[in-house]
Amino acid sequence: MNVMIEQVWQDFLKIIKEEVGIRVVETWIKAVSLSRYDSLERKVYLSAPNMFVKNWVETHYKQLFVTHLKRLLSIDDIKIVFCIGSICSAESELVQNVTSQAVSVSSAPDQSKNQKYQLVKKMPSMHANATMSKLNPSYTFDMFVVGENNSFAYASARAVTQKLGKLYNPLLLYGGSGLGKTHLLHAIGNEILEKYPDAVVLYQTTDKFVTEFIHAIRFDQIAKFQAKYKKIDVLLLDDIQFMVNKEQTQEAFFHIFNALYESNKQIVLSSDTLPRNLGGLVDRLKSRLEWGLIADVQVPMLETKIAILKRKAEMQRELLSQDVALFIAHQPVKSVRELEGSLIRVLAYASLTNQVVTIDLVKKVLGQTSDIQAKSASLIDFGAIIDHINKHFSYGIVDLRSKDRSKGVSHARQVAMYLMKKYTGKSLREIGEYLDRKDHTTITHAIHRIKELSHQDPQFAQKLRNIEQSLG
Ligand code: ADP
Ligand code: MG
Repeated sequence: MNVMIEQVWQDFLKIIKEEVGIRVVETWIKAVSLSRYDSLERKVYLSAPNMFVKNWVETHYKQLFVTHLKRLLSIDDIKIVFCIGSICSAESELVQNVTSQAVSVSSAPDQSKNQKYQLVKKMPSMHANATMSKLNPSYTFDMFVVGENNSFAYASARAVTQKLGKLYNPLLLYGGSGLGKTHLLHAIGNEILEKYPDAVVLYQTTDKFVTEFIHAIRFDQIAKFQAKYKKIDVLLLDDIQFMVNKEQTQEAFFHIFNALYESNKQIVLSSDTLPRNLGGLVDRLKSRLEWGLIADVQVPMLETKIAILKRKAEMQRELLSQDVALFIAHQPVKSVRELEGSLIRVLAYASLTNQVVTIDLVKKVLGQTSDIQAKSASLIDFGAIIDHINKHFSYGIVDLRSKDRSKGVSHARQVAMYLMKKYTGKSLREIGEYLDRKDHTTITHAIHRIKELSHQDPQFAQKLRNIEQSLG
């Protein structure tokens, strides 16, 4: 894809995220890619991994493509051609023959799925307050799978509900997109309302906050706006990175923050960037945001991904076998949201075609290339870890495999073992074999030691984070 088209595609994704929500984008729209634009014929070729995704996207979202791509490409008429891999249909005819797995897609089964989901999901926040608080009742602590990647954020969020306004104020949840920040904000709200049904809890996205503020300015209702926020007991403000460069809004928020803080009201925020790295945020607000506790969420490890998949499937009364969960978890995804998207596609397909979820079915739904990609791209291999160890500690594979127990080598070896367990999905035995260690307990010990060290020694913790980040 050339640069211009790539940019159009990125802009398109941004716009429709607003329009249909991030969930649809992650589940369906990103399952297809813009493979080619023929400017003479004014045809946009979209490639889907299989018939199922193609039909679904075509049935539900074709008009979106037409409307927005027309505008983004500045043309009046446009033809959207859906392809499966590189096999493309003529504009209107369906390629039913390409695969015998053709599925006709209607929205009905989707709805029945939703109903099922509605029945199963827990409704903890049936208090009158819940609606006003704008809380999603299915985002609870119970539904949140805790792993190494998020245990600190989870524990901090739980702690906040035990001692409102006193322990960590503000609590700032920080991390990449789709890793559970919004879920945790809602979970805090739901738990608080369960305990204190009369508490005034408000979940608000920063986008809405900004819009509300602009509206207040326009209609001369600043006092009312301020008053609304100042009477809140628990403010859950999501994605504060969107306040960047909006100085007046920051100013208004600064006053609300101070008022709430001074009366010991709890403030919980989320951001995809650390406050200190948010250019376009005034310093005094930055410093306020760092007054309390900052807890990060990271990409989950394999086992946590599996647990999440199983929990999400259970919510829809589906059972995933270990094999299938493992297979889906091995897909190269960057966030839990994407992982969930894959699962939703698989379950939708299984339900529409009345099939049991097997690995073959998953392969079909997640695309022709996914299993090859999964093998090569999702997993970081031993070699990559050895390269990084070499770069950061200056010891190579020969040192790591040797019997040398001097401090430097041992330490580097332990870091290698820790990273291998965390990122490669290989067993202790395989790691042992690779590093010439017969006894697995050496590896268990190393993992334990590295975890301990990263808690005790902030400098080492930072170094480890750097290595992990560069591992990708
Ligand atoms: P963020 O706000 O960080 O972008 P979200 O909180 O919206 O991410 O999470 C995206 C999706 O992933 C949600 O459906 C959420 O329920 C799910 N999710 C993320 N982390 C977990 C987890 N640890 N356990 C269960 N579901 C999770
Ligand atoms: Mg979010």
